[in-house]
Amino acid sequence: MNPVKTAVFEKSSSKIEECPPPKIPEYAFIGRSNVGKSSLINHITGNKKLAKTSGRPGKTQLINHFLIDEQWYLVDLPGYGWAQVSKTEKAKWKKMIERYLLERENLALVFLLVDSRHMPQKVDQEFMRWLGEKGIPFILVFTKVDKQSKNQTESNIAKYRKVLKKEWAELPKYFTASNVTGEGLEIIDYVRLLNEDLH
Ligand code: GDP
Repeated sequence: MNPVKTAVFEKSSSKIEECPPPKIPEYAFIGRSNVGKSSLINHITGNKKLAKTSGRPGKTQLINHFLIDEQWYLVDLPGYGWAQVSKTEKAKWKKMIERYLLERENLALVFLLVDSRHMPQKVDQEFMRWLGEKGIPFILVFTKVDKQSKNQTESNIAKYRKVLKKEWAELPKYFTASNVTGEGLEIIDYVRLLNEDLH
């Protein structure tokens, strides 16, 4: 497990046309606000300040590109599920994210973050359904596993998968993560493996 050597913020974009040229593979991270996305990005890249944690609703929703080891982009997508956000803002988010996910040609995989303590939330299920319909590959990351015992996490994940099984013939691969226990670094190894396959 080799740590990331370099993680550099490249740019923030409000639409796909502004994103960096699609010359290298990219991996997008998304999830409900507060799921621990910024913390996970900082944890797996070994850079505490890369992604801004605890973004508040109403702040500009942008697609953030980070160049990792000069080989791939890690993309931080704005979180969803803010209760306080207006319908107009939600529609804007949806349009931007959907266009990005559908049209970004170098997008290799989506990492969908979910809280390991909760059962599938409606908004997450709808998002997974949409990804499935569009044929966009995704992997689940169960976050904040330090907040409960290992047994509890395992039992929750089993229940979570049981719920998904009702809808999905094949269940997505998943990782567990916590910036307290340090779990989740396998994500970097996995991306490296995929990148080798893409070459
Ligand atoms: P984001 O909105 O998805 O980017 O979430 P943040 O990374 O800002 O995290 C939201 C809150 O959850 C913050 O208070 C973090 O400190 C906390 N948090 C994030 N990841 C973990 C984790 O792995 N373990 C614990 N215990 N707390 C976490």
